[in-house]
Amino acid sequence: MFDETQEKSIEKELSKCSRCGLCLENCPIYSIKKDENNTSRGLICKLSGYKKGILTEKEVKKGLKICLNCTKCKSGCPSLVDTTSVFAYKNALLNPSLFSQRVFLILKLLPLKLVYILNFFKSKPKSKKSEILYFKGCVAKAQHKKTYLDKLFFNPEFSCCGLPYLTSGDIKNYKKAKEKNISLINSAKLVVFDCASCKKAVEEYGNTDKNKLLFFNDLIENKIKIKDNSKYKNKTITFHKPCHMDENEFLKTEEFLKNIKGINYKRLENYSDCCGFGGSYFIFHPIISTKIALKKAKNIKITNPDLILTVCPSCTLGLRFNQLISFNFKKTLELRDFIDKETEIK
Ligand code: SF4
Ligand code: SF4
Repeated sequence: MFDETQEKSIEKELSKCSRCGLCLENCPIYSIKKDENNTSRGLICKLSGYKKGILTEKEVKKGLKICLNCTKCKSGCPSLVDTTSVFAYKNALLNPSLFSQRVFLILKLLPLKLVYILNFFKSKPKSKKSEILYFKGCVAKAQHKKTYLDKLFFNPEFSCCGLPYLTSGDIKNYKKAKEKNISLINSAKLVVFDCASCKKAVEEYGNTDKNKLLFFNDLIENKIKIKDNSKYKNKTITFHKPCHMDENEFLKTEEFLKNIKGINYKRLENYSDCCGFGGSYFIFHPIISTKIALKKAKNIKITNPDLILTVCPSCTLGLRFNQLISFNFKKTLELRDFIDKETEIK
């Protein structure tokens, strides 16, 4: 499954960990479980022990299935350990059955497949050629949503960003998706994203110019205002930062929202706390997922917005679920859809 070069690169990542434990503080699972088995440090220690022949496969497997793949441990690690690769390695090594990976992916993408079926007879949105490509994520494609992004940019049928394959250890399909996307990205002037997880996954391919990869709002900065007939005119709007969004990108998005004429932007209490949904995580670990969601719901109650915006379909679902279980019922929208329906270019 892994060639010698890949094995060496994983060993290098494992050896970079200084065991400082800073990842514990950022890990949403650790904040609930308080168990080192479920953090990157615990995983790295166990995998290192396994590679050195100190631990058996059974010992490594014990307790190592609980991870949201939120990448918070990666972004806060002073030793720059690529924990995403380490987790992919763990999944490929310890759950090598392609059958189990397929089942995992079906479950992970189940809501998406249902949307595909429901929208099967709708015609696909068409887009014009442009030097700027629109990386339309799997969920928006499944929904057959056509927004102004389809009108402005060219959507050349990118593959899935590959994150669901990578996190389930399906390295073969991850590589296939990555190679197809890299060749499209390298031929473009710019690529715009509306999903933080897709953007993060593509940035981590390694063979692409990161300066080419932008959030769509970077291209329409300072140019929009709320529609006169919008129900959100003069209302309080907040933003949930997905785990896969960098802090700098969050601050830029915040500035973008503050500049929209006719809304009151309010920073969400503990804005970077995880929503707890994590794609399939909710299906496999509903209790921990719900505990994380309730923490988030408390922050939303304190902020008390009229609308919550975000840039990830999984977070959108997570926030809707979180509002449901906390009986708070604040509306959640993707930023792309809010801009499309509720605002106009000045
Ligand atoms: S993964 Fe990074 S943050 Fe966590 S213990 Fe290792 S070096 Fe520290
Ligand atoms: S990816 Fe997220 S949930 Fe998993 S160990 Fe890292 S911080 Fe914790």
